[in-house]
Amino acid sequence: MTNPIRKVLIVGGGTAGWMTAAALSKVLNTKGVEVTLVESDAIATVGVGEATIPPITTFNQILGIDEAEFMRATNGSFKLAIEFVDWKHKGHRYQHPFGNFGLDIEALKFHQFWLRSLHEGWASDIDDYNLPATAVNLGRFALPSKDPGQVMSALKYAFHFDASLYARYLRGYAEKRGVTRVEGKVGSVQQDGETGFVTGVTLEDGRVLEADLFVDCTGFRALLIEQTLKTGYEDWGHWLANDRAVALQCEMGGDGLSPFTRATAHEAGWVWRIPLQHRIGTGYVYSSKHISDEDALKTLERTLDGKPTQQPNFIKFRPGRRKQIWNKNVVAIGLSSGFLEPLESTSIHMIQAGITKLLALFPDRGFNPVEIAEYNRLTILQVELIRDFIILHFHANQRDEPYWQALREMEIPADLSRKIELFRSSGRLFQSDYDLFAEPSWIAVLLGQGVTPQRHDPLVDQYDQAFVRGQMERLSGLIRRTAESMPSHEAFIARYCAAPEFKA
Ligand code: FAD
Repeated sequence: MTNPIRKVLIVGGGTAGWMTAAALSKVLNTKGVEVTLVESDAIATVGVGEATIPPITTFNQILGIDEAEFMRATNGSFKLAIEFVDWKHKGHRYQHPFGNFGLDIEALKFHQFWLRSLHEGWASDIDDYNLPATAVNLGRFALPSKDPGQVMSALKYAFHFDASLYARYLRGYAEKRGVTRVEGKVGSVQQDGETGFVTGVTLEDGRVLEADLFVDCTGFRALLIEQTLKTGYEDWGHWLANDRAVALQCEMGGDGLSPFTRATAHEAGWVWRIPLQHRIGTGYVYSSKHISDEDALKTLERTLDGKPTQQPNFIKFRPGRRKQIWNKNVVAIGLSSGFLEPLESTSIHMIQAGITKLLALFPDRGFNPVEIAEYNRLTILQVELIRDFIILHFHANQRDEPYWQALREMEIPADLSRKIELFRSSGRLFQSDYDLFAEPSWIAVLLGQGVTPQRHDPLVDQYDQAFVRGQMERLSGLIRRTAESMPSHEAFIARYCAAPEFKA
């Protein structure tokens, strides 16, 4: 006998709140669960969060979203990679593209053949063997082919979009499918005297909203999971030095509508550049111990591609995670669950992953602790792997400012240290089951940050050099011709999903 959930209350209407509402409205609507979202116009959303990673295309597919309509509604552009500028040292750049490097040869990893070419002195750039990276270098974009025989079938992509328009779009979607939106500020939270479970929230105007399951999407405020349940926080500030950001929007300029996010390293952090159809989103993520807010803003203003169109938005944060992400009958999704800085655009993905797990472990009113524990175990595993991947970017550097020196010299998590040393020795990598970032991502960033393997897998030496060269040249030629056959990113957007504000 189950005791089904009858009412879900989502508190907060930022990206997390409306993604949750949209997904629940799609999956639960036939099962008679009432879904309500309460948000307050008096409390702004965080106002950033505009770059995504490829799994978001699956989220859209599950929701049945028409991609071109969604792109038009959010002024969206496409993303094939992140370009890292000045990270290893000033004047250096590399890409973390969404896709594989080359093709494995008889079960031996392609990157091992590339390492052999490097050690033998005939290597070309590893990006020549990666389709998205080659397309990025040419400023091209096209959707993947549905024919698995085509090189284009392996193309993976993500989006850049306007965060406030994205929430608005999902709100329309969710309301159409029966989610009730309540405008109002939550003033107090009620708990069961015995169990401590949340029973309801009272708005400042006296209205009471009750539910069985509560989803805390109140952003950094963490109104239910922390302010009410006092769940506790694990701070990762000793590994991730950045604790502030200043965000701005500016007119289109510079490299224009490039199909990638750019992350440029600076004296005490890094600056993002996210091009949308009509403007650029940018911001400096920095360590308040190493630079003042005023100087951070000055640095950001120096890097702008066009005239600012917005007042600077200063944001404080604490890297880390909630000790439990699901506590009693409250599940924290979004910034309320913890925060990893946006270097690899992972926060919106963690919202998606949180929703997927909530649906996979959807409770009844008994709230079985076994399921809650599994939710927490999986979330913590995933977020710690992402954390280590992000730390890698900061730790493996050759820059000389105090901020970068401290990051290079800090002690890093043991698992990450083992991974780096294994790769440095012979280019070998073993992927953990729950790692969001697959082998090609680790290869791109390890090589990009200057962790160059001393040796390659001896098994690749069994192959005749002329054979290996021939295979690699054919592959890079095919990739190059495929990328050259794609339209420019601008031309693709103009044809497929131009918003009224689109500026070609
Ligand atoms: P918010 O946007 O803060 O929303 C909180 C909601 O709760 C609001 O609707 C507010 O009104 C409501 N609320 C709060 N208190 C109450 C109350 N008492 N009563 C009623 N309502 C209340 N992620 C990415 O994936 N890619 C990126 O490129 C990226 N860049 C980022 C850059 C920076 C500098 C930062 C800080 C974050 C970035 N993120 C990024 C993360 C991303 O912005 C968030 O994951 C995403 O916006 C979700 O935020 P949220 O909905 O949890 O919180």
